[in-house]
Amino acid sequence: MAHFIPYSCQLIEDDDIDAVVAVLRSDWLTQGPNIERFEQAVAGYCGVPHGVAISNATAGLHLVCMALGVGAGDVVWTSPLSFTASSNCALYVGAEVDFVDIDPATGNICVQALTEKLEAAKRTGRLPKLIIPVHYAGRACDMDALGALKEKYGFALVEDAAHALGAQYSNGAAVGNHKASDAVVFSFHPVKPITTGEGGVVVTRDAKLADNVRLLRTHGITRDAALLQQKNMPAWYYEQQELGYNYRITDFQAALGTSQMGKLDRFIAARRAIAARYDALLKNLPLLLPPIDTGTGWHLYPIQLDPVRCNVSRDAVFEQMRAQQIGVNVHYIPIHLHPYYRTLGFKPGQFPHAEHFFNHCLSLPVHPRLTSADQDVVVTALSKILDT
Ligand SMILES: *Cc1c(COP(=O)(O)O)cnc(C)c1O
Repeated sequence: MAHFIPYSCQLIEDDDIDAVVAVLRSDWLTQGPNIERFEQAVAGYCGVPHGVAISNATAGLHLVCMALGVGAGDVVWTSPLSFTASSNCALYVGAEVDFVDIDPATGNICVQALTEKLEAAKRTGRLPKLIIPVHYAGRACDMDALGALKEKYGFALVEDAAHALGAQYSNGAAVGNHKASDAVVFSFHPVKPITTGEGGVVVTRDAKLADNVRLLRTHGITRDAALLQQKNMPAWYYEQQELGYNYRITDFQAALGTSQMGKLDRFIAARRAIAARYDALLKNLPLLLPPIDTGTGWHLYPIQLDPVRCNVSRDAVFEQMRAQQIGVNVHYIPIHLHPYYRTLGFKPGQFPHAEHFFNHCLSLPVHPRLTSADQDVVVTALSKILDT
């Protein structure tokens, strides 16, 4: 029986395990010295001054919305071709959500559609307070264009970079390092570029925003003498200053994250080599391959069945690949089509490019543990299915 080949998975090595065990043998399981070390590793990699580690990227998006003062009466826009966390964060804080359709080539938010929607929103007085671009599959959005629109229309900009640690923008800078962004949120779920089991980091150039997220991740409570409202209190004293949450990450997860950060470039190089090999091996099949881009980190390798040249349905390909233990997947069901979002008034047909992409896409396995032999199994199976 062939082994199962997942679309993505973690790569944990002995030194990662040693790093975690060392923390388990130490005095600090949570909020110890490893958290700050990890925050600095991620922020330093991105070349930005501040990093705040949280329990997962969803929590990070939530806290950034809070810290930016997004709330009832505000509107937040994001891409419909994403995981639901990209928009749920706005609903958590009582804001309204709307979507901007994608560029069908990249799966990222369409700058043209966004420009038109902003112009229309300006006329009706309903400009968004915050826009959350998603770097779909690890391919950076056009942040220069989004930054120019931010200047013109005055919204906040938070990158959902759950897919994109280790990737670069078109100017070659590390994702996380764009001056137009208020904050950038990374995820360390096991399928993402590096893992801490569950976890995330918010990076930002804005010291106040970082302090605010740090306060909110631990109930809104501080013990920092410099921040306390009551002065000259005993050492046991602390204050809850805001209504925050417990969104902390553990020290042993942070140690795992720091160890994994040392491998990020190797992991990304492995993903890029696999993607280049797919580009070559799949080029004659009736598929639309993801566009070539040297900066993408290839969190996903999303192909689309070409509706003109391909007479097999996506679901038939999915079923037949899964029957051969190949863990293809579909990224994503457009957020607005989920039953919960339909209760908010969203309907099929509102974001046709995202819906078309969803109906034809399939994510092929890409991760640093995928061998060339595994990749050949994927390519051979796909070629046979599409040949019928
Ligand atoms: C994984 C993911 C998230 C959420 O990350 P968690 O760390 O699992 O909370 C958010 N947005 C996108 C696009 C994701 O893929």
